[in-house]
Amino acid sequence: MSETNEPKNSDALTPSELKLIFDEPKQKVKPPKHFADLDPAGRKELALELGIPAFRANQVATHFFTHHNDDTESWSDIPKDMRALMAEKFTPKLITLVRTIECDGGTTRKDLWRLHDGVLVESVLMRYSDRTTVCISSQAGCGMNCPFCATGQGGLTRNLTAGEITAQVVAAARICDSGALPGGPTRLSNVVFMGMGEPLANYNAVIRTVRNITAPQPDGLGIGARSVTVSTVGLVNGIEKLMQEDIPVTLAVSLHTPDDELRDSLVPINSRWKVKEVLTAADNYAQKTGRRYSIEYALIRDINDQAWRADLLGRLLKNRNAHVNLIPLNPTPGSKWTASRPSDEATFVSTLESYGVPVTVRDTRGREIDGACGQLAAAELIK
Ligand code: SAH
Repeated sequence: MSETNEPKNSDALTPSELKLIFDEPKQKVKPPKHFADLDPAGRKELALELGIPAFRANQVATHFFTHHNDDTESWSDIPKDMRALMAEKFTPKLITLVRTIECDGGTTRKDLWRLHDGVLVESVLMRYSDRTTVCISSQAGCGMNCPFCATGQGGLTRNLTAGEITAQVVAAARICDSGALPGGPTRLSNVVFMGMGEPLANYNAVIRTVRNITAPQPDGLGIGARSVTVSTVGLVNGIEKLMQEDIPVTLAVSLHTPDDELRDSLVPINSRWKVKEVLTAADNYAQKTGRRYSIEYALIRDINDQAWRADLLGRLLKNRNAHVNLIPLNPTPGSKWTASRPSDEATFVSTLESYGVPVTVRDTRGREIDGACGQLAAAELIK
């Protein structure tokens, strides 16, 4: 990929900013290579390297992406003596279920996964009347350090590989197939990158995963790009790169306040890319893809929920192709912050509406299971 999408008209990143965004602790042992790390051509090359005819790569893809099946022993169209090699080289087990917590009558479930090196990540599966969505993690931990977010408090442990991120989606699709969710078997229809991590700080693995999700079968899961949402703190260089990919995924920007002064502390990367720069990048993304973007806004009592901030946000967004998603703050353990009073939330909504800005309040699915943001992984670590 060319580097022409680096931020324009701005100074180079300082070493500490680079560290914040892109550095990851040295991994002691790299995760096993998985065929979901590769593009379809690379999968065929891998087969040939292993002395396996290239067409077998399509069979693997059909089992994995179409049937959500990584149990090579059950692959009856693959010669028995080839299955062990395939299990090792194509579909090694990358994530192991540690525990599941359910709420909302079982229609919301949070799965905690252990990776090969013992690192923990989580995903949340939510069944609604018209869709089933999985919220996945792109990093173990997060380097963005937003003070209201549980994941942010522990820092970044490491980036996940495309195989590890894709495995969360395939596992969710398998759970949907199995009928384990109330209502019987269903199809996984939506994927949101709103679990642990900053997806655009793990760019290549996230894009490979997006392609695995959106590519037609058998090369991918065949889920439409419009049903995939990438949520970011606002890494402008990442948004600009994403724009060049020609995959019109929905972009969500975690704005949380319209003014730079407060945003510098709520979303510390704001010291690098200011509100206006982030919105301009999102506007360009919307124009290029034809997709409306979302503004994520966690309403925090007496911090960012004042009527004047709603007014400022309304003025900022009134002529933009954006939709505001208000999220009542899910308080993290030990934090003094809490969700807004209902009357302040209602004023916030009506103020935005008075500017004609589309706004919804996100339902608080999964609150009892700390559905938001790394709280299950954190609980497991301190047990
Ligand atoms: N790093 C990405 C995606 C992960 S978080 C991002 O920031 O967009 C997904 C969303 O949950 C973000 O909008 C994030 O700001 C929000 N969030 C984090 N902690 C929260 C909390 N305690 N309560 C409510 N929303 C929270």
